[in-house]
Amino acid sequence: VTPIIGVVDRWVAEKPDDLAVIDGDRHFTWSRFRERIERNAAAQVASGVRPGDRIAFLDKNSVACVETTLAASLTGAANAVINFRLSPAEVAYIINDAQAAIVITGPEFVDTIAAIRDELTTVERVIVSGGPDDEYERWLDCGSESFAAVPFDPDVAFLQLYTSGTTGHPKGAMLTHRSLSAHSRAAVTGFRFTEDSVSMVAMPLFHVGGSSWVLAGMSVGAQTVIVREMVPGAVLDEMVERAVTHAFFVPAVYGFFLADRRLHKRDYSAVRCLGYGGSPMPLPTIRACLEAWPDVDFYQVYGMTEMSGVFSVLTPADHRDVTHPERLVSAGRVLPGNIIKVVDPDGNTLPPNTVGELWTKSQQHMLGYWRNPQATADTLVGEWLRTGDAGHMDPDGYLFISDRVKDMIITGGENVYPVEVERVVIEHEAVADVAVIGVPDDKWGESVKAVVVLNADGAVTEDELIDYCRGRLAGYKIPKTVDFVSALPRNSTGKILKREIRKEYWAGRT
Ligand code: AMP
Repeated sequence: VTPIIGVVDRWVAEKPDDLAVIDGDRHFTWSRFRERIERNAAAQVASGVRPGDRIAFLDKNSVACVETTLAASLTGAANAVINFRLSPAEVAYIINDAQAAIVITGPEFVDTIAAIRDELTTVERVIVSGGPDDEYERWLDCGSESFAAVPFDPDVAFLQLYTSGTTGHPKGAMLTHRSLSAHSRAAVTGFRFTEDSVSMVAMPLFHVGGSSWVLAGMSVGAQTVIVREMVPGAVLDEMVERAVTHAFFVPAVYGFFLADRRLHKRDYSAVRCLGYGGSPMPLPTIRACLEAWPDVDFYQVYGMTEMSGVFSVLTPADHRDVTHPERLVSAGRVLPGNIIKVVDPDGNTLPPNTVGELWTKSQQHMLGYWRNPQATADTLVGEWLRTGDAGHMDPDGYLFISDRVKDMIITGGENVYPVEVERVVIEHEAVADVAVIGVPDDKWGESVKAVVVLNADGAVTEDELIDYCRGRLAGYKIPKTVDFVSALPRNSTGKILKREIRKEYWAGRT
C-alpha cells in the first residue's frame, strides 16, 4: 500500500501540463491541482487541524472537495463530506458527530450553517468556497511554505462518508489509504479505466460513487470532469461536449435520461462505459438503456460505503449474453481481491441458490465507524464485513441482491424479499415506481403491500395489479393490498426510504 497522493504525484511527474480536472469553467493541470492540494494541506495545519481531526465539507460537487480530501491524506486528518440535501438538523448532527473545528461550505449553504451555528459545539471557523468572494481561495494561501506531510500509515482514514441512513442515525464510515487504493485497483479493472479515459463525476462527492470514483480514475491518469449538481439534461449535454468515456449514475437518473429527447439527438460515440447500481434497476430500464445506447458498455455494480465503493460487477459481456437473460438483474461477480459468502443467521455458509446475508472479505473494508465501536463491532466481525444485504449466488458465482435483511417480510412464516415482488410489479405498463413493504396483519404477522406510483397516463386498479402478479409470483409473495401514491420517498442516492413508508402503516405498533 502506498500513500493515496501517489494517484496524483505519478501524473505530475509524467505529464504535469496535461489537463487533470475540469470543474465548470475552471481547468486544472496535474501540476496545478497538486500544488493546490499542498496549499490546502498547509492551510489545514495553519488553521489548527491535527492528525485525527475531521474537517466538515458541505457543498455541491467541486474541485475544493477533492482537494480537501487529498490534502487530509497529507495532514493525517479526514474530510467528512456531508450530504447537502440533508435538513439543517441532520447537518448539525453530523458536524457535531465529526467534532469538526473547520467547516468548508458553498454559498448556497451559508444560510443552513447560520441557522445551526449555535448548535455546532466544536466549530471554530466556517470557510465559504466559491461565489464572488471566494474565501476558500484566500484560505489556501494562509499556510506555511515549509509544510511536511505526516508519516505514512496505510490504515489512517482521510475520507469519512456518512452512510445513507436508511436505518437509524447516519454513521461515519472511515476510509483509508489501504481501503481506497484497493478500491481503485478493483474499479480500474472492473470498468476498464485507461489513461485516455475521461471520467465524469456525476455522483455526489459525499457518496463513494463520487469520491472513490474520482480516485479510481485519477489512479490511471484519466481526466476528471466534475459535475456540480445532477441535472440529467445538462449532464447529457456535458457528456457529449467533454467527450466523456466513463460515468456512473443511479438507476433513477437513467429513467430521466430515457425520457429526455436529447438522448436520441446527440452523438455519444465517445462514451465507452456507463455504470449503474446502488439500488435495483428495473429490468425494463436496463433493456431500454441497452437499446438506446447499443454501442456502450454497461456495468451493473454492487457496492457500499463500508466497502469503499464497488465490490462486484455485471460486465458488458454478461449484459449481452443471450443464453443467460436472468443475469440482467444480477450484480455480477466479485472484483479481483474480494471474497463474498452467503450465510444463515448463525454465520454458517449456505449453498448456491439459497438466500442469506452477504458477508465480504476484502482490503476495501472501511476501518470502522467513527466514534462508534458498537456499530463497528456489529459490522466488522473478524475478517468479515456483514453487509446487512440479503442475496444469493448462482453456481457460477453471479450475485443476486434481494434486499436489506431488515426489509425482508415474514408472512405466515414465509420469507418474502420485496425486490422480487417489485421487479414483477414494475413490469406492468401502468406502473412508474413501486415499493413493497410488510404491513401488520393479525393473521399472518405481516402481509405484503405494494405502494405504487402510476405513469402519467397509466391506469390500473388494485385488483388488476394483484391479478397481474398471479402466475408471475408464488402465492405468498403476491401483494395482498395495493396503495396508490403520487411519489415515493427516496434518499439522495435513489434508495427508497422504506422506513418512511412503513411508518404510516405501523404507527402505534412495533
Ligand atoms: P451506500 O452505502 O449508500 O452505497 O448503500 C449501499 C447499499 O445499496 C447496499 O448495502 C445495498 O443494499 C444497496 N445496493 C448497492 N448496489 C446495489 C445493486 N446493484 N442492487 C441492489 N442494491 C444495491
